[in-house]
Amino acid sequence: MAEPILMPPERHWVCPNCSQVALTFEVIPAPRFHLCAGLRGIAAPMLLDGVKAKVEAKEREDYVGTADVQTDGEGRPIMSVVTTREDGQDCTVLAECANASTD
Ligand SMILES: [Zn+2]
Repeated sequence: MAEPILMPPERHWVCPNCSQVALTFEVIPAPRFHLCAGLRGIAAPMLLDGVKAKVEAKEREDYVGTADVQTDGEGRPIMSVVTTREDGQDCTVLAECANASTD
């Protein structure tokens, strides 16, 4: 008698800001990120197909100076990417990078 083969669940991911889609077969689901053309190249989460939400890049509003911050494709400093669903929000913080030197 053949043993049943357990297949990992198939998940379809979409982006509300661009046309990119993805298909994953992970047993433990993890957020799926991509470089979003709709958000000018910022790494943004994808949504499971059918989930109603918006994904927005939030521009850094404080003084940047010489800080090493992440910018979008138009050179605007981006502070975070916020996903807003019916039942709450997720936030991906794009923190400033620290630099050190031994000179
Ligand atoms: Zn996208």
